[in-house]
Amino acid sequence: MVGAPGAGKGTQASLLADRMGLPHVASGELFRNNIREQTALGRKASEYIERGALVPDPLTVQLIADRLAQPDAADGVILDGFPRTRPQAEALDSMLARRGGRVAGALYVDVDRDEIMRRLSGRWLCSESEDHVYHATAHPPKVAGRCDTDGAPLYQRDDDQPATVRARLDQQLPPMYEVIDYYADRGVLSAVDGDRPIAEVTDSLLRAIAQPAS
Ligand SMILES: [Zn+2]
Repeated sequence: MVGAPGAGKGTQASLLADRMGLPHVASGELFRNNIREQTALGRKASEYIERGALVPDPLTVQLIADRLAQPDAADGVILDGFPRTRPQAEALDSMLARRGGRVAGALYVDVDRDEIMRRLSGRWLCSESEDHVYHATAHPPKVAGRCDTDGAPLYQRDDDQPATVRARLDQQLPPMYEVIDYYADRGVLSAVDGDRPIAEVTDSLLRAIAQPAS
């Protein structure tokens, strides 16, 4: 699964995994589990994370390879959150080739950048309760800037502010487009319009899987 932050990629990966009876392998969760369980790879990964460094690709690929070696992954997995760069996509292909496997399909949940901006920068939180969450377009408060439940002022987290979101997208989108080009060149990319209701996107993804691009 390939998609920008906020495109609904994780949600769709989870739904597809359920519908297809395959494990949903989310790389972020895989890291967290290995670190929590103090596996050899988890300990290595945390050495990088603790000093704010990027986990090197070979280590990440090893984590994925270990996960794919588990019995429930014998028929394949829905991979989510990896690869994020072209070198990672190449490393994944090499690893799979050694095991006699392959990327059967790359599914791109396509949402344009303006919509991604709206989704990611629209979140407002209540200053009284973290359970009261609003969204400028999807779930606006009745009175601008005030919580419906208790009237407390709403605020935006730094992470959700437009300038922060814009900077994050500037960093993350170019490598994502390289991953998309990589799979398009190999004839395995299917793009679906992600700016639709969740169930419609899922149906399109299932159709794309049933009729591979090549
Ligand atoms: Zn509130």
